[in-house]
Amino acid sequence: MARLSIPQLPPYAAEAIARHQVEAPVKLGAIANDLGVKVVISDLPLAVSGMLVLDKDDRQTWTIKVNRHEHRNRQRFTIAHEIAHYVLHRDVIGNELVDDTFYRSGLSERREFEANALAAEILMPWHLITQLMRDGERDVNKLAEALQVSPAAMNIRLGVLT
Ligand SMILES: [Zn+2]
Repeated sequence: MARLSIPQLPPYAAEAIARHQVEAPVKLGAIANDLGVKVVISDLPLAVSGMLVLDKDDRQTWTIKVNRHEHRNRQRFTIAHEIAHYVLHRDVIGNELVDDTFYRSGLSERREFEANALAAEILMPWHLITQLMRDGERDVNKLAEALQVSPAAMNIRLGVLT
């Protein structure tokens, strides 16, 4: 299985992520919490999946807003995608970043690719996928269910052409 290349993560982020990837599903809220990022399920426009917003007053606290109208698995991917932007790109974001439903935000395509790649690493770490497979789980839908991601996301992760 090919690995997507993502930049080397700073240790604080790598540790915060790994700490909550011990069992399926990955504890996404706990990762955000350890990183000091708030997650708020919000009433966002239909065309928007998520946002990463810098606090206007303290200028250092970041909040992820995720669209309450989207499916829970989709929300999890969006939160992971915004966590990735926070870890990799917050220095170039300014005050806020708005990701549409195609995860286009005005950042470069390369940065969106990095955010998607890291989101996949966060939600679907290989060690949990191989552990589930070793336990006998081969069905993509069941693997997706165990990790609380969409079957489409799991297919992409596994390199299955759809
Ligand atoms: Zn994005």
